Amino acid sequence: MSEWDEVIPKPKSRFLRIKCPDCGNEQFVFSHATTSVHCNVCGAILAEPSGGKAKVKGEITAVLD
Ligand SMILES: [Zn+2]
Repeated sequence: MSEWDEVIPKPKSRFLRIKCPDCGNEQFVFSHATTSVHCNVCGAILAEPSGGKAKVKGEITAVLD
């Protein structure tokens, strides 16, 4: 159980705003991304697919339905 599971109890797809842990850039990422998502600025991995919900690497700063 991660923070992510507590924030989003339902297995519903959403857009998440994720803050890059490396450079601080924030960008939107689909919560069920099926490919790795990289930071647009520095190229760090922000989310990786994990058989459903993406595994988020950075801090989630906003969630959009
Ligand atoms: Zn970055």
